[in-house]
Amino acid sequence: MANVLVVAVDVSDAVVAVRARTRRDVPAACTGCGTLSEWSHSRYVRHLADAALGDRPVRIDLSVRRLCCENAACPKITFAEQVSGLTVRYQRRTPRGEALGRRVVNQDQPVRSLELWFRLGKL
Ligand SMILES: [Zn+2]
Repeated sequence: MANVLVVAVDVSDAVVAVRARTRRDVPAACTGCGTLSEWSHSRYVRHLADAALGDRPVRIDLSVRRLCCENAACPKITFAEQVSGLTVRYQRRTPRGEALGRRVVNQDQPVRSLELWFRLGKL
């Protein structure tokens, strides 16, 4: 996760909120063809549930880039960058949060939404 910069950490009684962003000078691999790109299109914030810190759930608000694929033959025009070990496409939990959630809640019914994740308070 060398391409992630932590901007701030806010600790309350209810949650540990980490604000972070990816670096703009690190190329990302297109999720369609694997071509590296630094051609940034826009940014958006992903809200990820991570494993707990003590008894407090951890939420990571991660600003990621949407980039343009520089391979003219690729069917993807833009793609969202992924951070190894932190993001998974279409997931709202980090891989560590996902593994913990499956263990804590129910192995047959993993938590499927961030809202449910926090409502259960099981992190
Ligand atoms: Zn591509």
